[in-house]
Amino acid sequence: MASSRHASPTELSSPDEPFEPAYLLLRTGELRARADEARRRLQACDLCANHCGVNRLAVTVGATCNTYERARVHAAFPHHGEEDVLRGHAGSGTIFFSFCTLHCVYCQNWEISWKGESDLVSDEDLAGMMLELQRQGCHNVNLVSPSHVVAQVLAALCLAVERGLRLPLVWNSGGFDSLEALQLLDGVVDIYMPDMKYADSGVARQYSHVTGYREVNRAAVKEMHRQVGDLTLDDRGLARRGLLVRHLVLPSGLAGTDDVMRFLAEEVSPRTWVNLMDQYRPCYRSGNVEALARRPSSTELREALAAARRHGLTRLDPGGVS
Ligand code: SF4
Repeated sequence: MASSRHASPTELSSPDEPFEPAYLLLRTGELRARADEARRRLQACDLCANHCGVNRLAVTVGATCNTYERARVHAAFPHHGEEDVLRGHAGSGTIFFSFCTLHCVYCQNWEISWKGESDLVSDEDLAGMMLELQRQGCHNVNLVSPSHVVAQVLAALCLAVERGLRLPLVWNSGGFDSLEALQLLDGVVDIYMPDMKYADSGVARQYSHVTGYREVNRAAVKEMHRQVGDLTLDDRGLARRGLLVRHLVLPSGLAGTDDVMRFLAEEVSPRTWVNLMDQYRPCYRSGNVEALARRPSSTELREALAAARRHGLTRLDPGGVS
């Protein structure tokens, strides 16, 4: 489509500025204090916007995320399929957590997010994964579906930082993060990459089985932007810090793309980096849902791109709709 959607040089942070991940700038003991507070909150869990209130240290039923004292990790590896600004030449150091705070009927990773088939990991294990990804040369640690494992991530991060972790942290979530959790992550996360899946909570309830998605998601994205600002890149074009929003265009207008783009441009920042994703295809249970049983049409994708432009968003990820 018409204009170049690559970042212009004016959008780069200073290439000479030495980069330090946010968590290294916290005052001594602060990271441990955050980890302790997150663990305390597991006793009446409000660490995502489902606000289950269960004691995850004492029970093994009742959590919407099916996750209790320990996280489950499906896989950890250098990912070369993420956005260019994350994958660079060496890959984004991805850690895929099992289970999820959302239950999307069209989830492409449903074996991971619904069935959760994977191993339980200790804080030590998780710290080791972060360090191994750094050893392999990855450009960042990319925590995929982390909203329900805030406490486990913070505990592992304490160990990994002591042992030399220096990579920026990417919080790659479904955007259903609680403000309580985001406060614990303030000054810890460098790059927030939330989804904005829907503009309508009723649609979210129907297809992702959560309550209040619109309000929760918008409050979360605003808070993320308050913490880290617009996305900045280094002189290699790699993300250093800031907000990157993913929006999957759904068929039949179910994602509310126009309203989401308007919100980002008017209520967050017209300089928000947006990946307008075109890869929706019917998966898992969505083949039986008429409105979701097909890919978005080329007209629907064109309209999504036009909406982003009409609302003044110009930093559209080159890997997205074109
Ligand atoms: S992380 Fe969310 S889904 Fe999981 S127990 Fe806590 S509030 Fe419930």
